[in-house]
Amino acid sequence: MEHAPLIDPFARPITYLRVSVTDRCDFRCTYCMAEHMQFLPKKELLSLEELDRLCSAFVGLGVKKLRITGGEPLVRRDILTFFRRISRHLDSGALDELTLTTNGSQLARFADDLAALGMRRINVSLDTLKPKKFAAITRWGRLDQVLEGIAAAKRAGLRVKINTVALKGFNEDELFDLIAWCEDEGHDLTFIEVMPMGDMGEELRLDQYWPLSDMRKAMAERFTLLETEETTGGPARYVRLQETGQRIGFITPLTHNFCESCNRVRVTCTGELFMCLGQEDVADLRAPLRASADDTALIEAIRAAIARKPRGHDFDYSRTGVAGQMSRHMSHTGG
Ligand code: SAM
Repeated sequence: MEHAPLIDPFARPITYLRVSVTDRCDFRCTYCMAEHMQFLPKKELLSLEELDRLCSAFVGLGVKKLRITGGEPLVRRDILTFFRRISRHLDSGALDELTLTTNGSQLARFADDLAALGMRRINVSLDTLKPKKFAAITRWGRLDQVLEGIAAAKRAGLRVKINTVALKGFNEDELFDLIAWCEDEGHDLTFIEVMPMGDMGEELRLDQYWPLSDMRKAMAERFTLLETEETTGGPARYVRLQETGQRIGFITPLTHNFCESCNRVRVTCTGELFMCLGQEDVADLRAPLRASADDTALIEAIRAAIARKPRGHDFDYSRTGVAGQMSRHMSHTGG
């Protein structure tokens, strides 16, 4: 590492960076995006070179885990070029992990190349195993395409974690099917509480909110849940199912239970650095990136922002600011 590591005011080292590389997506999941989105003009987005500089600066400041997300990261043109370049930090040992959150639609094309450049694990978002429901929730997606992508990832040797948003009245009835499918396929599984964002109306959001505490109760009717302190350095808390040995993750952003150990920050595709998932304080990194080919100003801006990282967050369904911020440039917890 070239520079002193990033430590926030609460003595948490910042070692995990999530970067959104595009605001575009080939799906329109109802809880995330409007059907007719207005995407950003290209000049607003960081170029692949700028993304490389930005990620590399964070790696130089001690980031060990880099997660690429979106939008849908695999629909960004030439994204493989970016991945290939950034994988030099894996080769050098500066970065421990380079990973991806994807909807899976393009994985059949990319899985082999991603594995070849050193990626080991990926997160794939999947809320249902039923084709019609899948088409309804994603508006534009095809389940078979995603399942093919996931199969390609598995064949390529990538470890797959399925991320499922828990939606009341939508996938409650698939809880045990999803668990069984992940057991059969050897995938990890994490459930995410739906967050107050996206395009759906407030009422629908509240309707769809299925607290993971309720889900755990449902799970406990069929399985013995063993508490575990295991962590993968992310926001998930885990239980083990005694009967199958599976580890199931829960991400509960609404009950801010992971703030105290938060080691993460995220950057949007326009270069905005968010220090906390649920707060709107933001630092512009695009201006220092574009102002000079030298990274001094960029690194100063990163340090100044980390010095403002808050202790934690508190979601409130009445706050609409979160919605606007997240749905446009999302790179969230579970993703
Ligand atoms: N396109 C990629 C994907 O589908 O994984 C990456 C971006 S997507 C926004 C990242 C994750 O955010 C997905 O798992 C998605 O289900 C989740 N997500 C989107 N809106 C959400 C919400 N309102 N509450 C909880 N999770 C949400």
